[in-house]
Amino acid sequence: MEAPRLYSTKPVQSLKPSKKIPLEEDHGKASDALPLPLHLTNALFFTLFFSVVYFLLSRWREKIRTSTPLHVVTFSEIIAILSFLASFIYLLGFFGIDFVQSLVFQPSPDVWIAEDEEEDDEVLLAKEDARKVPCGQALDCSLPPLPPAAPIVTVQKVFDEKPVTVLTEEDEEIIKSVVAGTTPSYSLESKLGDCKRAAAIRREALQRLTGKSLSGLPLDGFDYESILGQCCEMPVGYVQIPVGISGPLLVNGREYSVPMATTEGCLVASTNRGCKAIHLSGGATSVLLKDGMTRAPCVRFGTAKRAADLKLYLEDPDNFETLSVVFNRSSRFGRLQGIKCAIAGKNLYIRFTCSTGDAMGMNMVSKGVQNVLDFLQTDFPDMDVIGISGNFCSDKKPAAVNWIEGRGKSVVCEAIIKGDVVRKVLKTSVESLVELNMLKNLTGSAMAGALGGFNAHASNIVTAIYIATGQDPAQNVESSHCITMMEAVNEGKDLHISVTMPSIEVGTVGGGTQLASQSACLNLLGVKGASKETPGANSRMLATIVAGAVLAGELSLMSALAAGQLVKSHMKYNRSSKDVSKASS
Ligand code: ADP
Repeated sequence: MEAPRLYSTKPVQSLKPSKKIPLEEDHGKASDALPLPLHLTNALFFTLFFSVVYFLLSRWREKIRTSTPLHVVTFSEIIAILSFLASFIYLLGFFGIDFVQSLVFQPSPDVWIAEDEEEDDEVLLAKEDARKVPCGQALDCSLPPLPPAAPIVTVQKVFDEKPVTVLTEEDEEIIKSVVAGTTPSYSLESKLGDCKRAAAIRREALQRLTGKSLSGLPLDGFDYESILGQCCEMPVGYVQIPVGISGPLLVNGREYSVPMATTEGCLVASTNRGCKAIHLSGGATSVLLKDGMTRAPCVRFGTAKRAADLKLYLEDPDNFETLSVVFNRSSRFGRLQGIKCAIAGKNLYIRFTCSTGDAMGMNMVSKGVQNVLDFLQTDFPDMDVIGISGNFCSDKKPAAVNWIEGRGKSVVCEAIIKGDVVRKVLKTSVESLVELNMLKNLTGSAMAGALGGFNAHASNIVTAIYIATGQDPAQNVESSHCITMMEAVNEGKDLHISVTMPSIEVGTVGGGTQLASQSACLNLLGVKGASKETPGANSRMLATIVAGAVLAGELSLMSALAAGQLVKSHMKYNRSSKDVSKASS
């Protein structure tokens, strides 16, 4: 099925600025008229203005006295009139009336011209990186105009505090007691009631204890209150990870600028190229197939027969309603969807699946499971709960159960990439891509005994978006399960590509999603926080965006491989020319 075409997709065009866009800061000002200091320029024009006014008025009086017609002007009068006009315009600018500049420097709407151009392989990625606007906008002027720029809304006040932490004498005493072991480091927040100060003291104590400097790890510039009891214990600073933007990614008719937090050179540029290919081909279609988080406790009985009794009870449809009422008490959003059991002798693994609204849902599902276990204890008093998580869930480990059954959001995303775009943007051919996909992502992964790893680098994109948007990056393990399929369509001219990802575990509330930076990235995607209209809509949308970005990443890396470009571009973008031996000291 061809992806719905939303925009015209004329052959790939490379656009170059036809002229420089005069930015606000670039506008000439009246005061720039002379290469003199501002006060001298002002003095000069003021003197000129009053002198020529005086001269012209005296000439006027003279003409009236001698009955000379006013339109008969001498050369000196022409010069005086011109000087009057120049100084008048200057004075208008001086008093803040800049209409002359605005007339002269108005930007032309026609700032880009289209130009068909065959780009050299080597310069492609360099150009991608150097572009000042996202690829789709830069390359296809046939796109409909973007909606008027929305006002920039400040998402969240980061924090109010002094930029640099200075330790006091009182702090010095506390540092000494932490170093001596009298004050436990973990208790600093509760003892001081000031998270920033606690982090500063802990950091200083740590440096003294270890004799190692933490000077490269920033302390200031972070809201330590926001992580208390939720995101990180015993903080001593924070690690900075750059966030790059790829896009616009056109998925289901909407454009997204995708934030990617990474230190892997080439990744953002490459994903960006994939986004461009998708955009020029009319966009991708991403469909959510399933949405349910899982938790599977392990319970043990005296006999396998008793374990089987519970399995039959739990899987009996007649008992589902009772169990879901008990489960659903845990949250307004957690709704039990199903129970699947696996038995190993006397041990039973019970995999509960529930919807979790906009939360990724691990806490929510765990609370519901605890309710059910407490409830079951009445009818099965001989049930011994070994652990609320028995790894049949399965969280943060590669497992066939997630690959087959799904966990979190299951999504399939597809696009038809036009042959022209494959050639001109991706620098390869449909045929090469299809062959490479079959031999690498399918056969190669089968040879390696892969579990959910039938792709080129889904985890690269998943992890970069997860870090940027406050997801749990450890869940990239199952979230990156992906099978990439490629097929020649339309008489072999175009490429059909799809990614099927059964376990995308994302949320837009809870965990790291509420922190200022991560929340800003979610806001950029338009999926920040809880969806007001339909609980769960934001997290589901995020899952479809993740799959779309993975599609872009797969397209671009596979193309680089097919064209033999990979090593070349990595040497260019991943290898700094800096002397790394200096950094190691
Ligand atoms: P997780 O289950 O992903 O670990 P949390 O349980 O920490 O996340 O966060 C979910 C919290 O957010 C719950 O307290 C829930 O009541 C609240 N919440 C508010 N709005 C929503 C929503 N639309 N969807 C899911 N949870 C929501």
